[in-house]
Amino acid sequence: MVAICSECEAPLAADRPCACGGLPEFRLRSPRMSPHGYKNTLKHRRVSSDPRFRSGVWRYIELLPPIQDSEIVSMAEGNVPLYESAGRGEDFAEVRKLAYLHLGMNPTGSFKDLGMTVAVSAAKASGMRSVACASTGNTAASMAAYAARGGLRSYALVPRNGISREKLAQIRDYGAEVVEVQGSFDDAFARLAELDAVAIVNSVNPYRIEGQKCAAFAMLEARGWCVPDWVVLPGGNLGNVSAIGKGLLEAHALGLIGRLPRIAVIQASGAAPFVHAWEHQVDLVPCVAQTMASAIAIGNPKSWRRARRILKACNGTAISVSDAEIDRAKGVIGLEGIGCEPASASSLAGLRELVRRGIVDGKADVVTILTGHVLKDGAASVRVADLRDVQKARGSHACAI
Ligand SMILES: *Cc1c(COP(=O)(O)O)cnc(C)c1O
Ligand SMILES: [Zn+2]
Repeated sequence: MVAICSECEAPLAADRPCACGGLPEFRLRSPRMSPHGYKNTLKHRRVSSDPRFRSGVWRYIELLPPIQDSEIVSMAEGNVPLYESAGRGEDFAEVRKLAYLHLGMNPTGSFKDLGMTVAVSAAKASGMRSVACASTGNTAASMAAYAARGGLRSYALVPRNGISREKLAQIRDYGAEVVEVQGSFDDAFARLAELDAVAIVNSVNPYRIEGQKCAAFAMLEARGWCVPDWVVLPGGNLGNVSAIGKGLLEAHALGLIGRLPRIAVIQASGAAPFVHAWEHQVDLVPCVAQTMASAIAIGNPKSWRRARRILKACNGTAISVSDAEIDRAKGVIGLEGIGCEPASASSLAGLRELVRRGIVDGKADVVTILTGHVLKDGAASVRVADLRDVQKARGSHACAI
């Protein structure tokens, strides 16, 4: 299938960027269905026994690039809960209505599964025998699982000191070949160019974006197609904001929703090159990433141009939060009985800051996206719980986490 450049719309092969700096992207083929009819079809698919429709990605098959059914590698991904805040998160952020779309509740514990089912299926359909990625852990864990299911070999390039024990163990559990790279995620990504005859399944792969956009459809479906005022999510390589933004724009174009929510991307302050570019309206200048939230420790995000386009289209914004603020927010999410890995908690930390600055109204109806499972990073949970104990011992109520 032919893709187009996300920026200048020139036709592109699906596996290489454009000379203008844009990335290949698929354009939606308009399904001939009324919005009302399509919503009903989706409802029926939820109770269907067709194995494809047990997936919260393939349920939206008309909105995906065509892939032969026999090549689909799926693990019922995308059926994740939308948890309403029980109060602590709303109080912490000082917002009226808050819900968490928990994409950590996927087969391998992160949102990467939504994209990976499509990317690995497409690689298999095109006759590829191997897939590869650079990863701080979650992309590689997802790739390894789907490659194993699809009978493909997989190669994970990971930063030696930038990955949690749990993620490294999980990648090996599914049988991927792990190459530990000296340096950062960005260094590992650069090394991908040395690989031959493999499909790269990082989010520069347009099939990943097609799968991940389905999180937007699932979120809207779970809300009875009622549009929130804001969607807040973490940004590292900025593939997910591009994907969820694409999904929301398509839902709007198809008449499934009548207006767009605003989107806020949150970066860790030690890895916030996009926030800098957004605030100063300049091109992105890569930085050396430094944050405990390893999943967003990325200094040279590949999808910054399309993230910028998405934020402009929905009147969105981008801000950064410190690691200390991320830890506090993680503690609050834990006390909601939900839990997540640190990068995910940056969304709640960011929401609090957006309300404080008056950018998000305290009366707003907000969905924050939790991107990864609490068990992905045990050291972070211990750190946050210890912090909580120290506060308790001091009798501090000021920031009860
Ligand atoms: C991949 C990942 C992110 C960052 O997503 P991008 O698409 O790189 O912006 C955030 N949180 C978690 C848990 C992730 O796995
Ligand atoms: Zn281009």
